[in-house]
Amino acid sequence: MVVKINENYLLLKSSYIFAEIAQRVNKYQEENPKAEIIRMGIGDVTKPLPPAVLEEFKNAVDEMGKPETFRGYGPEQGYSFLIHKIIENDYLPWGIELSEDEVFVSDGAKCDTGNIQEIFGLDNVVAVTDPVYPVYVETNVMAGRTGPIDSEGRYERLVYLPCTAENDFVPELPTQPVDLIYLCLPNNPTGTTLNHEQMAKWVNYARENKSIILFDAAYEAYIQEDDIPHSIYEIEGAREVAIEFRSFSKNAGFTGTRCAYTVVPKELKAHDNEGNLHLVNPLWNRRQTTKFNGVSYPIQRAAEAVYTPEGQSQINEYITYYMENARIIRESLEKIGLNVYGGVNSPYIWIKTPEGMDSWDFFDLLLNKAHVVGTPGVGFGPSGEDYLRITAFNTLENTKKAMERISELSF
Ligand SMILES: *Cc1c(COP(=O)(O)O)cnc(C)c1O
Repeated sequence: MVVKINENYLLLKSSYIFAEIAQRVNKYQEENPKAEIIRMGIGDVTKPLPPAVLEEFKNAVDEMGKPETFRGYGPEQGYSFLIHKIIENDYLPWGIELSEDEVFVSDGAKCDTGNIQEIFGLDNVVAVTDPVYPVYVETNVMAGRTGPIDSEGRYERLVYLPCTAENDFVPELPTQPVDLIYLCLPNNPTGTTLNHEQMAKWVNYARENKSIILFDAAYEAYIQEDDIPHSIYEIEGAREVAIEFRSFSKNAGFTGTRCAYTVVPKELKAHDNEGNLHLVNPLWNRRQTTKFNGVSYPIQRAAEAVYTPEGQSQINEYITYYMENARIIRESLEKIGLNVYGGVNSPYIWIKTPEGMDSWDFFDLLLNKAHVVGTPGVGFGPSGEDYLRITAFNTLENTKKAMERISELSF
């Protein structure tokens, strides 16, 4: 007998963008040991856990060490104390009512956005924006919902919705029927977002076409402008067509600690092969209770502390810090005539490459001439070819230094 692999894995594009970036940066550093390289490609927060969070984290660790307060397996869906705070703080202020069994606490929005496709049939047609957070695409490739990738980097059977400067990074409604639609807003990597009216168009489309929107709101905390929905459920009818993913990673520094949650409303339904309707919520519950054993107790206590007044003011301070970096990046680059997008409601700035340069050319130019590292847009999809992503997650000092260096270049 010879064990067979899941051949879908062979369809995955092999060269990974971040490995290529690391290789180019390391090579440059070896050849130019004195160059002080500033990394602006970071897709990770850099501020430590807020003190209020850390304190509850530690207290809960101590509880685990005493027989009276020790906890073993918790509810797979998350502790009620955390779910209650989530509903009360993240939804009620926007007029959204959720019941506790519509919220599923997890160890990450990456896992949840990656795993959610499991509860849907393999013959569904999947739509993604282009550029895109690669997790949505690659988990569907692994599952067998696509064909092979073409020379431009598009998988067969996936529907790509281009988001470029030409359409102001607002995806247009698909021209062919699609079943599952991944939307990430505020967007990684473009940093742009949709207002209420633009989002309502998508909700209405999903209602009319019986599609489901998989809404990744990992960057919700960065929203600054008034007309941007903080949850897709602010849009009328969204409870019937949308699953929402949230995370403590980017607002509260949980990237290494791991806590997130997913909302699956009770109104959400999908068909079986005979055309009978089924609720989606119990399917996700079944999936999670079978394959997941919950987030650790101290981490859920740490996440709960995000919602205390101290926690809120500490995370707001961090977000203000990152958004100040974003402003500096945006304004510095605009000043030297570059076309930049995002950075207003998100920590990502999406830069159009100067005339005649593709994303790797521009990456090399910034590395060689300014010792600044960005992320080539093409790593997020073929429509990212003429763009480069810079993030606001470095320190203020480094951000200013990087912008001064880039400002001395001419394009
Ligand atoms: C960072 C990020 C997340 C968060 O993932 P976690 O697993 O919760 O850390 C989710 N979606 C996108 C698009 C992200 O950039």
